[in-house]
Amino acid sequence: MQKITLNDGNKMPQLGLGLFQIFDLNIAEQVVKEAIDIGYRLFDTASAYNNEEAVGKAIHKSSLPRDKFFIVSKLWIDQYPYEIALKSIDKALEKLQIDYIDLMLLHQPYGDIVGAWKALEKAQSNGKIKSIGVSNFYPDQMKSLELMSSVKPAINQIEISPWYQRTDEVNFLKDENISIQAWAPLAEGKHGLFNNKLIAKIGRKYNKSNPQVILRWLIQRGIIVIPKTIHGDRMKENINVFDFELTDKEMSLISTLDTGHSQFFDHRDPMAIESIFGASLRSLKI
Ligand code: NAP
Repeated sequence: MQKITLNDGNKMPQLGLGLFQIFDLNIAEQVVKEAIDIGYRLFDTASAYNNEEAVGKAIHKSSLPRDKFFIVSKLWIDQYPYEIALKSIDKALEKLQIDYIDLMLLHQPYGDIVGAWKALEKAQSNGKIKSIGVSNFYPDQMKSLELMSSVKPAINQIEISPWYQRTDEVNFLKDENISIQAWAPLAEGKHGLFNNKLIAKIGRKYNKSNPQVILRWLIQRGIIVIPKTIHGDRMKENINVFDFELTDKEMSLISTLDTGHSQFFDHRDPMAIESIFGASLRSLKI
């Protein structure tokens, strides 16, 4: 598997399996087991996904040594205050049945970011986490965190798909030497992605499907991808993207598909913050 070297020197597979919305722990464990057999080594979970235990069980039962895996997890907003974050990191290690996490992210740019980041730095310094990063941070928030911190975030995990390409933000992160991980790289199929004619035409030349063309397009932009699927045949399809290369013209054609908007929700919309994060933020009681 092709790897990306992070700004702290750690190496991370450029493609892995996303585990959002796999709520049943037995199914999640079976999905991770099947993915390991197919060749996946990077798994993207989170406290908020409630399936860290399943990832832990599948890894534990696998015959592969720990260092073959790259496990990503995330702290949720209500875990950000420093002491709670330290305890939550220990809890995640326990659930995952491992003695270090490869990459731990702050899931959202709200709440006690300072406390949470200090806890990530502490856990990194005592070996509980190898690399630390964030998710859903905009460039201004990223710059602010960078200026305050001793350790620069290794990664920003953000929504990127053909419909929401975020070229300026990607360029900003590259200039800052922060790696980019795309969530919802297939936009969860929204906006007809799996049937889009332009993407299909490009794919026919290489005998590749729409998901394969899109994952390849992201990989050629230097982005780490974590498509989610619970189906073995789709896992095989999604990982089979390292044997062809899109031309500059094809890359440019796909860039014309950008709508400039999230396919899910706008992190800068106060109403979205209220409805999605309100309960977690209120529970913090400053
Ligand atoms: P996604 O990976 O873009 O799309 C997943 C959807 O596409 C599922 O419905 C899956 O269905 C389907 N699919 C996958 N491969 C396919 C294929 N080859 N052909 C047809 N359908 C296919 O969306 P996502 O799960 O939202 O994002 C990926 C990962 O990013 C998540 O799992 C999670 O780890 C991470 N994430 C992070 C954040 C964040 O805030 N940091 C937010 C969202 C997601 P089946 O499962 O039925 O195959």
